[in-house]
Amino acid sequence: MCLFTMNKKITILGAGISGLTTAYLLQKKGFDVTVIEKNNQPGGAMESVHEQGFLFDRGPNSLLETVPLIGQLVTELGLESEMIYANEEGNKRYILRNNQLHALPTSLKGFLQTKLFSVAAKFRLLKEPFVGRSNDGYYQSIADFVKRRLGQEFLDYAINPFVAGVYAGRPEKLSVASAFPKLYALEEKYGGLMIGAFKSAKERKKRAEVSKQSAKMLSFRNGMQTLPLALAKYLGNHVLTDSEIISVEKSSDDKFIVTYMTDGKKYTLVSDAVLSTIPPYGINKLLSKFDASIDAVFSKIEYPPVLVCYLVYPKEVIGQPLDGFGFLIPEKEKKSFLGAVWSSVIFTNRSDTQHAAFTLFVGGMRNPEIIKEDREKLFARVQEEFESIMKISGKPVFKTTRFWAKAIPQYNLGYVETEKYFDTFEANNPGIFLSGNYRGGVSVGDCIKNAEPTAEKIEKYFDDLMMQ
Ligand SMILES: Cc1cc2nc3c(=O)[nH]c(=O)nc-3n(C[C@H](O)[C@H](O)[C@H](O)COP(=O)(O)OP(=O)(O)OC[C@H]3O[C@@H](n4cnc5c(N)ncnc54)[C@H](O)[C@@H]3O)c2cc1C
Repeated sequence: MCLFTMNKKITILGAGISGLTTAYLLQKKGFDVTVIEKNNQPGGAMESVHEQGFLFDRGPNSLLETVPLIGQLVTELGLESEMIYANEEGNKRYILRNNQLHALPTSLKGFLQTKLFSVAAKFRLLKEPFVGRSNDGYYQSIADFVKRRLGQEFLDYAINPFVAGVYAGRPEKLSVASAFPKLYALEEKYGGLMIGAFKSAKERKKRAEVSKQSAKMLSFRNGMQTLPLALAKYLGNHVLTDSEIISVEKSSDDKFIVTYMTDGKKYTLVSDAVLSTIPPYGINKLLSKFDASIDAVFSKIEYPPVLVCYLVYPKEVIGQPLDGFGFLIPEKEKKSFLGAVWSSVIFTNRSDTQHAAFTLFVGGMRNPEIIKEDREKLFARVQEEFESIMKISGKPVFKTTRFWAKAIPQYNLGYVETEKYFDTFEANNPGIFLSGNYRGGVSVGDCIKNAEPTAEKIEKYFDDLMMQ
């Protein structure tokens, strides 16, 4: 702990996983942090609710243990007995093709035998090491990139559903360099995906990082919100909930004044730096006095809606063997939803032993029009399609939904420029920092991972000030 940091105050806007993890790291470094959150509880997208004996994660269902910081947080927050790893079955993932679920192959033998890809598509993959780089550089969509390297069918039946599962996005719109930087780097650095995957595995080992493909999947007995709740508990009265930030100003003595509303009353907080982790569509107006172009840049970041549907059935009415993570649906299959997570297969305590719980995702960039649809009719259609795929012959014992009007930021083509803008904004406005799932990855693991460099950047800012 540096003596100089001890009296420095930092206001953190938003108590999602990005804000709370960074607050935790900064507090450990000796900074005096205050996190301000408009909702009545911390967690942001991480919402877990118990209803009628079932546990429904309304946002993320699991998290991949990609960096040591995740395990460190679990230990330091005393969550070892709360944390649960996914069951072995969680490694098996299905893709829908011609109304049949096909397991995604995980071995060469499985790949050769699968009916998910045609023989022609399998042969096409063999060409990958000989495909050259694109002249478009970073300005390529993930669809262009994958079609060129792996062929159309692999794009349609592997990448299209995968992109829907991670971003609720469409491969034609997402930038490969921003949304899948590691994939893009394999081509840039090593000239191809197969050779790159082999060589980069060695480098990752040196950094003690685990690839998303081999990272262990985890959650908590009482759902994903356990982690933000534990972080907030650790931070104690340094987290203010039910408090909506309405303005951020800079005073003549270079302090930041954050004004927020609690119970209809205005309060202000004065600090030496501000870290915003609230989504771009909320922060654009608050920071426009610092840079007039922020609104134009931030309002271009697309956030499609997602309807999360939760269904619980008695096990005996389900014809499909329950032995996997769930399934994803390629756009070509023309269904009303993106896929389903078999929640109680992955984490057994999501239901009792007689029932199976499922979480379905609807909408995203594939169908942003759901925002205008009658939600009950939409849910009924999704349920009917799901029951047909899963060979379900009875009624659910419980069902509920959570609608996210703006679910996940899309790192669309051209996002590399948007990312450069974040750096420029911070350089032009010393003392204001930007983070959140629109920068450096959308997964919970990415948000946790990014908290470390963000905290270090803030610490360096104060170290540099001291040197001046
Ligand atoms: C439906 C869904 C499913 C997902 N599934 C997965 C998954 O399975 N695995 C995975 O790894 N990731 C998943 N994600 C992504 C992941 O959950 C999010 O990207 C991540 O939790 C975002 O964290 P964050 O802190 O950056 O942002 P947020 O969680 O959005 O936090 C921002 C906070 O800022 C607050 N705020 C906004 N405006 C103000 C204001 N004016 N004043 C005060 N506070 C304000 C908000 O209330 C919010 O709490 C999913 C996301 C969604 C929506």
